[in-house]
Amino acid sequence: MGLNFDTESVTPALVCVECGHGMDRTSGPCAPGPGACALCFFCGSLNVFDADMRFRRPTDAEVFAVARDEDFQRARRAILEVQNYGTPKA
Ligand SMILES: [Zn+2]
Repeated sequence: MGLNFDTESVTPALVCVECGHGMDRTSGPCAPGPGACALCFFCGSLNVFDADMRFRRPTDAEVFAVARDEDFQRARRAILEVQNYGTPKA
């Protein structure tokens, strides 16, 4: 398997549960549905779609499941690398 961001989906207005950034679309292997996990492009945090397709905080079980998912971890690292690009190294 590998990272797949081929499907861009327009969503209702979303707010990241960690950083508060707004967004209105996702990229992934398919359109998201309730219970789908999403990584915030701005901070790399895990968000989960609720039944109304709004973001909620993940449960502990969801956090552990994603921690074991190699593709999610690769995607998170890629997001954090992009966000840190250009930041002077200490
Ligand atoms: Zn965020």
